[in-house]
Amino acid sequence: MSKDVQCIVIGAGVVGLAVARELSINGLEVMITDRAEGIGTGTSSRNSEVIHAGIYYPAGSLKARLCVQGKHMLYEYCQSRGVNHRQLGKLIVATDESEHQILNDIKQKAAANGVTDLQWLNASQARSLEPALSCTAALLSPSTGIIDSHGLMLAYQGDAENAGAQCVFHCPFESARVLPGGGFEVSFGGVEPVTLTCDILINAAGLQAPAVAQKIDGLDQGAVPKAYLCKGSYFNLQGKAPFDHLIYPVPQKAGLGVHLTLDLGGQAKFGPDTQWVEHEDYDIDPARGEGFYEAVRRYWPDLKDGALQPGYTGIRPKISAPNEPAADFCISGPSNHGVKGLVNLFGIESPGLTASMAIGLEVRRRLNDSEAGYP
Ligand SMILES: Cc1cc2nc3c(=O)[nH]c(=O)nc-3n(C[C@H](O)[C@H](O)[C@H](O)COP(=O)(O)OP(=O)(O)OC[C@H]3O[C@@H](n4cnc5c(N)ncnc54)[C@H](O)[C@@H]3O)c2cc1C
Repeated sequence: MSKDVQCIVIGAGVVGLAVARELSINGLEVMITDRAEGIGTGTSSRNSEVIHAGIYYPAGSLKARLCVQGKHMLYEYCQSRGVNHRQLGKLIVATDESEHQILNDIKQKAAANGVTDLQWLNASQARSLEPALSCTAALLSPSTGIIDSHGLMLAYQGDAENAGAQCVFHCPFESARVLPGGGFEVSFGGVEPVTLTCDILINAAGLQAPAVAQKIDGLDQGAVPKAYLCKGSYFNLQGKAPFDHLIYPVPQKAGLGVHLTLDLGGQAKFGPDTQWVEHEDYDIDPARGEGFYEAVRRYWPDLKDGALQPGYTGIRPKISAPNEPAADFCISGPSNHGVKGLVNLFGIESPGLTASMAIGLEVRRRLNDSEAGYP
């Protein structure tokens, strides 16, 4: 039976848009739906906008593979489509000798992921690059960069629309059911509730992806992970930062540590920290800034009192609990859950922005791969 549309993508963040782009330029008729008023209002506009090199992730993980592949694709794409970005490099710094082994481990981990360009710097080499830095050693990652994430999403949207895709906003997913003959019936609420049928359903709802999957009748709920939310707050530096590279401490348990990133206008911000929360709420608590001074002064002792102003927050869509090791991306396709034409994207935290194009390819592969894939 013919469906209303071939493919519905739920979520117009950077990942949903990248997937929609990939599927539509490869000939599928795609509808991208979002409950918000436009693209990228979720995590995709609440992150560090860093093009990650692919350094920290366990070898063989999806995070490692898709980050490295995605980084190369992203640099090429940004150049060809004129998306604003800058490959400015980053320093990962040890602030006492006990952290040198961690830097060594990071270098080896990176090499196992195919990131072989990291350079070990002693303190004076690091300071010749960044005179304001206090460290005992550092790793230079030349392939790390920054990107205008909204410009990137607009480019993905443009490509998808040029290939015939349609974006529909104010269109919250409410429920779906797997149809007996194959495909899905998907119901949306909002001001004009509508029910549509499709052959392929992509769940790219970010923080809400597990909640969306729970409302798919016919999907084994054992295939849906529990969602955990880990908030990160950013504080902006008043005035100009004396740095030309991104500066990262050695990684912490639930994130990359309070690092310094620069935006394309040269403005510096610090963060994100980590705070496990129960609900999606983006308020920033100015009191959290207090902890930042100590963390930042370990590598930049000259940070002045009162120089940090509350910026913004983002929430990591975790699928591992606070006391568990960070889970890998979970791209759950037909060969995982047995439902033809369905891909759920769970736990797409950092480096999801960097990996977005590679995730698009991976979703297409998962749909093609299994016999239960493309209709
Ligand atoms: C603090 C922080 C810093 C980060 N820094 C980086 C970084 O520097 N580099 C990097 O590579 N990655 C980074 N990331 C990760 C990156 O931001 C994410 O992986 C990426 O933005 C996820 O995109 P997404 O499209 O999956 O999710 P989102 O951008 O959250 O999009 C999901 C969309 O689904 C929509 N939606 C939700 N529920 C429904 C519903 N019921 N119906 C319809 N629509 C719905 C939402 O409105 C939203 O637009 C960071 C993440 C965080 C939290």
